[in-house]
Amino acid sequence: SGPLTEADPDVACHVLREHERQRHSIELIASENFVSRAVLEIQGSVLTNKYAEGYPGRRYYGGCTHVDAIEILAIERAKALFGCTYANVQPHSGSQANQAVYLALLKPGDTILGLGLAAGGHLTHGAPMNISGKWFHAIAYGVRPDDHRVDMKEVERLAREHHPKLIIAGGSAYSRILDFAEFRRIADAVGALLMIDMAHFAGLVAGGAHPSPFPHAHVVTSTTHKTLRGPRGGLILSNDPELGKVINSAIFPGLQGGPLMHVIGAKAVAFGEALQPSFRSYAARVVENAQALAETLAADGLPIVTGGTDTHLLVADLRPFKLTGNVAEKALERVGITLNKNAIPNDPEKPMVTSGIRVGSPSGTSRGFSTAEFRAIGSMIMCMLQAVSENPAHPNELVVQAVTDQVGGLCQRFPLPY
Ligand code: PLP
Repeated sequence: SGPLTEADPDVACHVLREHERQRHSIELIASENFVSRAVLEIQGSVLTNKYAEGYPGRRYYGGCTHVDAIEILAIERAKALFGCTYANVQPHSGSQANQAVYLALLKPGDTILGLGLAAGGHLTHGAPMNISGKWFHAIAYGVRPDDHRVDMKEVERLAREHHPKLIIAGGSAYSRILDFAEFRRIADAVGALLMIDMAHFAGLVAGGAHPSPFPHAHVVTSTTHKTLRGPRGGLILSNDPELGKVINSAIFPGLQGGPLMHVIGAKAVAFGEALQPSFRSYAARVVENAQALAETLAADGLPIVTGGTDTHLLVADLRPFKLTGNVAEKALERVGITLNKNAIPNDPEKPMVTSGIRVGSPSGTSRGFSTAEFRAIGSMIMCMLQAVSENPAHPNELVVQAVTDQVGGLCQRFPLPY
């Protein structure tokens, strides 16, 4: 019971069920995490009532003293966390952070060069169905067919051939550390700017478990809700004050109206948490756990794209088990393991089917799982995939029940803090 249940029992009931789902299932979606109670609390605070168009000290609304102080804290903490001199904490999402950079630096029809969707890139890096692919001349680089790593020779060849104004590094399903210095060398050689989208691995950078995109990038974009474990939102960083000015204008008034002050407050809180020594150990454990999971899956016969991971995520190839990503996703959801189907490089299946799954360790690590639990989770996944592979319509009920019980047991031993 509470104000929501009284005012709107229908919505409240769904929230309750979602809460139960999160508590009683193993969350392996690589882009999700469990925020702290403090981050949760501030997003439901009175800050949600406030309009504050503009920037601290230069607002188009009165009554901004307190939200100004909060936004300044968020900015200063972001700069301290990532070691840079400019931060904009207003993007409503990672996609809008990227759009703001494009609005600031490009004109419609300009050429951009980013990792293709089929190789693990993000929609906003020039995919044909996204505004970035519709309004810009988007060229995609891929990964090598043998080791699935970004082919820097191809990046250079395409950059020299197409002269992009902006080169984009980063992706959504790429598990390896990118060669930021080499990207910058190529950008400089062709007179392009370099944007590094660290949406996925920002928390690892913050926690010292992944190289920083600085000093290589001209501009860095990110989400705040993945490995960084903050509220759902975006972030733009740079060391160039002139670039900062145009990016500020691109976010407001260029692209957005009033900033979401309750989310900006939550970003300040999450950045504060990420500045604590405990976040360094969290980031290191995220990587260790993803590697333990990758090893377990590989040992049981599931090829891992690129052969492993340097980060929080991995993509596994289901073809040896004659399974598709959507079948595996549904089967694992049935036993309480949540992950997503994902294309493998040059996947023969359609995007709604796929030949792979993407698996990540940020949420499980937040919950307290260590390598032993991630190895156990790997075995649960393999048991279930084996059973589905043997009988797709009716996987062995004993296996289904056993794995469901194991999932339940693990969730009980590692309860969420809320
Ligand atoms: N950039 C990358 C690399 C991403 O993986 C994502 C989200 O999946 C985004 C940007 C977009 O973030 P959002 O979903 O907040 O728009």
